[in-house]
Amino acid sequence: MNASASAPLAPDAPWVVLKFGGTSVATVERWRTILQLAAARRAEGARVLVVVSALSGITDALKALCACAPIERADALAKIIERHRALAAQMQLAHTAEMDRWLASLQALVVAAAPEQLRWQATVQAHGELLSSSLGAAFMAANGLPTTWIDAREALLAREVPFLNERARVLSAQVQAEPDPALASALAARGEVFISQGFIARDGDGQTVLLGRGGSDTSAAYFGALLRASRVEIWTDVAGMFTADPRQVPGARLLQRLDYDEAQEIATTGAKVLHARCLSPCRRARVPLWVKDTQHPDLDGTVVAPQPTEVAPSIKAISSRRGITLVSMETSGMWQQVGFLADVFALFKQHGLSVDLIGSAETNVTVSLDPSENLLDSDVVAALAADLAKVCRVKVIAPCAAVTLVGRGMRSMLHRLSGVLAEFGRERVHLISQSSNNLNLTFVVDEAMLDGLLPRLHELLIRAGALRTDDVALFGPSWQALYGGGAELKQVPWWHAQRARLLEVAQATPRYVYHLPTIRERARALRALTSVDRVYYALKANPHPAILRALAEEGIGFECVSPGELAAVDALAEARESPRLFTPNFAPRGDYADALRRGVMLTLDSLHPLQHWPELFAGHEIMLRVDLGRGLGHHDKVRTGGAASKFGLPLDQFDEFLTLARERGLRIAGLHAHLGSGILDAAHWPLVFGQLASLADRIGSVRCLDLGGGLGVPSHPGESELDLAALDTALAEVKRAYPQYGLWLEPGRWLVADAGVLLARVTQTKRKGALNYLGCDAGMHALIRPALYDAWHHIVNLSRLDDAATTLYQVVGPICESGDVLGADRRLPESVEGDVLLIAQAGAYGESMASHYNLRPLAESSVIE
Ligand code: ASP
Ligand code: MG
Repeated sequence: MNASASAPLAPDAPWVVLKFGGTSVATVERWRTILQLAAARRAEGARVLVVVSALSGITDALKALCACAPIERADALAKIIERHRALAAQMQLAHTAEMDRWLASLQALVVAAAPEQLRWQATVQAHGELLSSSLGAAFMAANGLPTTWIDAREALLAREVPFLNERARVLSAQVQAEPDPALASALAARGEVFISQGFIARDGDGQTVLLGRGGSDTSAAYFGALLRASRVEIWTDVAGMFTADPRQVPGARLLQRLDYDEAQEIATTGAKVLHARCLSPCRRARVPLWVKDTQHPDLDGTVVAPQPTEVAPSIKAISSRRGITLVSMETSGMWQQVGFLADVFALFKQHGLSVDLIGSAETNVTVSLDPSENLLDSDVVAALAADLAKVCRVKVIAPCAAVTLVGRGMRSMLHRLSGVLAEFGRERVHLISQSSNNLNLTFVVDEAMLDGLLPRLHELLIRAGALRTDDVALFGPSWQALYGGGAELKQVPWWHAQRARLLEVAQATPRYVYHLPTIRERARALRALTSVDRVYYALKANPHPAILRALAEEGIGFECVSPGELAAVDALAEARESPRLFTPNFAPRGDYADALRRGVMLTLDSLHPLQHWPELFAGHEIMLRVDLGRGLGHHDKVRTGGAASKFGLPLDQFDEFLTLARERGLRIAGLHAHLGSGILDAAHWPLVFGQLASLADRIGSVRCLDLGGGLGVPSHPGESELDLAALDTALAEVKRAYPQYGLWLEPGRWLVADAGVLLARVTQTKRKGALNYLGCDAGMHALIRPALYDAWHHIVNLSRLDDAATTLYQVVGPICESGDVLGADRRLPESVEGDVLLIAQAGAYGESMASHYNLRPLAESSVIE
């Protein structure tokens, strides 16, 4: 292959097609980029075809020219001419004969205007690309890169699509693009670098037709397929396809790798980066398609190519389309009648409308019409409805929006989508459709519902582990990180700086390591909240004495749930003077007696103690834990509200509790509620405060409201943190309404989760079918959260922290249980026996829940002061 630009290319040199959109061809600076890129590809030994759009805004201007009143045409034309002459001047072109020729032909068309004719409109609009490509050819040649201009209409022939109406045939044509070696070699004989037009083709009569708005991508794909290019590069103004529309979801992640079907699905269901029709020519010819950013040519962008074998099953994107029209057909018994659907769909066909989604019920068939596939105007829909009314009752529902989740193997991910379904459960969903190719799940809702929905869903998908942002082979940086001026504040976890030390203590594994500075920092952040009067640490998260000491020193109290926990605090000189709470659940009588002996404030959460052991509590102050009737949290097993959960006094027994308390001579000093764990919405706690306050008002003796814990710790890359400042502000606001009550919080996980890691050593590796198992000595006996809660813990190979993560592993432990999986589908560097794995965020409910199961010893622990 030729390495230098000067040596001529071999006749069979590979082709590369570069496509540039409207903004990428609108200024002389951008043309310099095009020139550089084309020259670079040529220097790499490729024959280059540049395909261009019209200058940005020109297709719109030409469309407007077609539609405007005759008297306005001259003006409209003058502006278009002026725009091109201005660019030619910027380009300092001495030679503009080609462009002038197209300007003259445009002028002639305008003079002989036939606005009612679709073919005239097409020919007028085609001039945008004819002009831009002529300017480009002149510019590249003038700047040292001989470039051959070719008319796309010679190469791209529209195919006959049966039943396509005239409008679609002329304005939204499709081309049959099979690899054509004769064309490739004919062109190869004519030069090395070419430029041609996007958007345009010819029909069987040799007339100009268009490929639909945004169709230049598709032209590039057609050329790529015809020439069997080594790749098609779509150069645009974003780095590629993202997990969601970045204008709505700034945290959307770059999709680095997609297969054709997924890219097709994403392009079809809303993303504007690629024209929906450009995927299938590339897929058929197996030509890889790259999406790249003209302003940041060094960014990797998105590569669309045949699917790599090892990928984590993941949702790839969430998209939305507006302007969807639903046609609902009530059939009162005709459904299931032979031929009914055939009759109905014949009418859609007659009106040239293509149906997208279909939902059916006993007496109703509802279909959606997508504006990107249909040239929808209200006349067409009205005419269709009138015809349909002859065979069924019709309702047209518009405007609707379709929200689509895209990912290969959607069905295997459904169990992770409960949060998403709950979000939709709140609103009216007109239609749900799961594509038969198992690639998408679509919800059609009223368009008005779309506001703010996508960011919420995106976050939910990440949190549920359904959008696997941890897989670095698939997901690149967020939009914010790429274009938002580095707004993404990503904290590097403490263990990066402690790597050498961790590798040292990993001589004996499994081993927990706790970083006290992180715990102190968290404690200070909570103590700094002005609205919070007291913070109790939920000891069960991790009762390590060093942690208790550090928290006591930071002024945190302790919430205990057993005599053992109370004793653990009492055993520490530094901690025993700290405020304490005893909040057991279904504990035996003796536990309460023990707590009272120690002088600890206790919490009751049922009638039983007052009914059966009143003598214990007489004359004492207690707290009452109520069940507000609903639970929250990241998993069923951590939701602690509602009848299905064993915690708290149900509100229908509240009055009875008050009566008993009065009769037994005890005072209720505080109310408590805790709805669950892993809550990341700051609005939750103020709501609970308000509810508890109005209950407290009915008691009289209450001084404080304990809102429990549940402060969420994000675990997936890209998930947002709980906004403490927002929490403080919101709590302060609701407190202003009830200044008489002190506000207590009792977090556990939030204080210690990030401060702890679990170190393990790789024991064995095994390949089974397509799966790679990576065994380590820490299993569910050491850390049960993944097995118990489906909890997500980030896992890295600490011995190879800087190596590229190349292999997809199932990380498992040594316990004889199928559920002994610490992490499924984790991308890690190729790992070997003896490597040290680090399982992150293991400071909470790790060591404290560890067991001897299988008679394996408990994990050891170390502390970093
Ligand atoms: N110029 C055409 C349009 O604006 C085609 C394209 O840019 O892709 O729709
Ligand atoms: Mg485009």
